[in-house]
Amino acid sequence: MSTRTLIRGHLLDVPGNPFTDSVGLRSEPDGAILIDGDRIAARGAAPALLAAAPDAPVVDHRGSFILPGFIDTHVHFPQLPVIGSMGLPLLRWLAERTLPAEAALDTAESASKAADRFLRMLAKNGTTSALVFGSHIPIAQNAFFERAAASGMRIVSGLSLGDRELPDALIRTADECYRESESLIARWHGSGLLRYAVTPRFSVSCSEAVLDACGALTKRYPGVMVQTHINENRDEIALVRRQFPWARDYFDTYERAGLTGATAVFAHNLHPTSDELSRMAEAGVRVAHCPSSNNFLGSGSFPMARHRKSGIAFSVACDVGGGTGFSLLKEALAAYEMQMQRDDGVALTPTTLLYLITSAGAELLGMQDQTGDLSPGKQADLVVLRAPEGSSLQAVLAHHTQDAQQQLGAMITLAREESIRETWVAGRRIYPDAG
Ligand SMILES: [Zn+2]
Repeated sequence: MSTRTLIRGHLLDVPGNPFTDSVGLRSEPDGAILIDGDRIAARGAAPALLAAAPDAPVVDHRGSFILPGFIDTHVHFPQLPVIGSMGLPLLRWLAERTLPAEAALDTAESASKAADRFLRMLAKNGTTSALVFGSHIPIAQNAFFERAAASGMRIVSGLSLGDRELPDALIRTADECYRESESLIARWHGSGLLRYAVTPRFSVSCSEAVLDACGALTKRYPGVMVQTHINENRDEIALVRRQFPWARDYFDTYERAGLTGATAVFAHNLHPTSDELSRMAEAGVRVAHCPSSNNFLGSGSFPMARHRKSGIAFSVACDVGGGTGFSLLKEALAAYEMQMQRDDGVALTPTTLLYLITSAGAELLGMQDQTGDLSPGKQADLVVLRAPEGSSLQAVLAHHTQDAQQQLGAMITLAREESIRETWVAGRRIYPDAG
């Protein structure tokens, strides 16, 4: 039996890095993708593909846009209930709202339910791959991996680690951090579409011994990623300075532990020194930029031009629950607005914004050969987007039937989860559920 399917609609993608290469927005208004198994076998104009594969069943999405699946490089699994917790800056928001909510998720059963809800919200918002900050509690994190495996999504995640500045239920010794991470790596890293990331929460909650244990894990398991936070908030940076009096700066606390290899993704980096930026570039670490979270918590503004100038790769991420929702289209709008407000703001176009929530994320996760655009040979990870009947988006799009940049700009500005009709990963529709 053939496993081929042809999906027809308006294709939009960015095959490469528009900041550095001469690639732009690819638009195929009456386009189609031929999916064979988990891969894209061909793409092009619909009439030609229909003629070339006359037996393939057709999923007809004419009138909809087909975009690459969105790639979220920083989001917290246990923090869905915290979205919208207003009125507090980072350290108080963590202590009073977020860490207690994370500690409450302490059984396999409650974590499984929360994981299903969380993964469904990602898919419902068009996200197909994500680097996910996990729970501090091993049974909860194991439950998350179980549900992630069942979801069919491309997930990189890890047990959050820390031995101080946390509720008692979340504290682990350095030795426990090492052993519990190791057993999750053995069980889940490389299983199906899952990978592991060693996940020290941030230097505030990690003694040198915990950071060293993380460094030892990355040495022992070189295929795993690293994820953590850096330079989010000025009080946090001052606290790290007091906790690590020997360190040159925040980045040094991770450098000394050997956590700054090319598979490391650092969230935020709003207030880096010039020296930190040049060392980050030299190490090849990447940055997850989380604009709605930065705005919501009043943490600051992302110096994108300085990152560009230093040659540090970055992508846009949602950072739920500091972030204001799971939509990467909304994050792209927030990134655009943040740069518009800065004196040194980078001029972002619809094309660069789509890149920042698709191909750029694939590069951060080392998945650029598998996902990020709709080229033949890549995995069939895609989103079908259609303006709801009677919506503002539909009204705006009616004025721009020919101009793909305008159409994409309107989607980034107005399309949210109500506009996401289908989400596919590896040639399989994961949203809405088949059953
Ligand atoms: Zn975060």
